[in-house]
Amino acid sequence: TAGILDLQGISRSYSTRQGLFGKKVPVHAVDEVSLSLKEGQTLALVGESGSGKSTTGRIALGLERPNSGYVLFRGTELPATDTPAWRRMRAQMQMIYQDPLAALDRRLSIIDQVREPLDIHDIGSASKRNNKALAMLDAVGLNASHATSLPYQLSGGQRQRAVLARALIMQPALLVCDEPVSALDVSIQAQVVNVLMDLQKELRLSLLFISHDLKVVRQVSQSMAVMYLGRIVEFGETHLLLSNPTHPYTKALVSAVPVAGRRTRERIILKGEPPNPAARPTGCAFHPRCAIARPECVSVCPTFSTLPDGRSVACHAVHTNPPTKEVGS
Ligand code: SF4
Ligand code: MG
Repeated sequence: TAGILDLQGISRSYSTRQGLFGKKVPVHAVDEVSLSLKEGQTLALVGESGSGKSTTGRIALGLERPNSGYVLFRGTELPATDTPAWRRMRAQMQMIYQDPLAALDRRLSIIDQVREPLDIHDIGSASKRNNKALAMLDAVGLNASHATSLPYQLSGGQRQRAVLARALIMQPALLVCDEPVSALDVSIQAQVVNVLMDLQKELRLSLLFISHDLKVVRQVSQSMAVMYLGRIVEFGETHLLLSNPTHPYTKALVSAVPVAGRRTRERIILKGEPPNPAARPTGCAFHPRCAIARPECVSVCPTFSTLPDGRSVACHAVHTNPPTKEVGS
């Protein structure tokens, strides 16, 4: 069954020079990624920097092309970039980034920028467009005085609200959020996340939510995919993965997050180097940091197995030795 967004076997690689005069090495930014996002839901993409989350998000919107694999929006493959068909489809998908200041024009008032997509597409009369922009600003919690301000006159949280208003004014069906609240104070994060979730319900938005923050992921998403060096290692319902992580990497990520009402898990400290996409280990790319790596992990990339609860896991240990439920979970 097609979701609103389906990625099928997406790979994206490029070559980079190692050092000033070094030889060119291939970088597999995204490798054989398949995902499905259901209409009106939120799918979180989780992982450290360099895991390929942002590239996956850009590929989902057609902003970057995969070397292989397919991107389907409501069951239809994304048309070639910069064709009229692509622009029509593209209008239904928006992206917001970590840094709202970079997304805004510092010379233009907030309302001018929120209204701009309507101006570009010449939708409605000037006064209608203005009223719609004001209504959108109101929906994200900004008032008429914010509307006439310049970006630098607003706080970081207010700026991200403005970016959200601009992204949603064309009523897109899909919003890709790349670390949308990571740059904000924790207290402000919750406010912006709540605004986003309210609007999601109201507008029946589907969200691809890229984040390394599992506390936010727990709050916003129904399903999550954990990425490590360009590959998905575990994919399933968020509550299942967070309450009973199966892949050793997911276990390590989850162990770092305190859980309310539950005895704190022992924190798993990952040994070894942080992941470097230009020097991806053979076999299971996680093997240099994995406490339970076995000989086959060095040479054989694990395939996915599906567990009874519906999740997919790529790990040799899980394949041959199904996880036992933790006591008390
Ligand atoms: Fe660890 Fe091997 Fe599983 Fe990779 S496949 S996570 S190295 S046990
Ligand atoms: Mg990123």
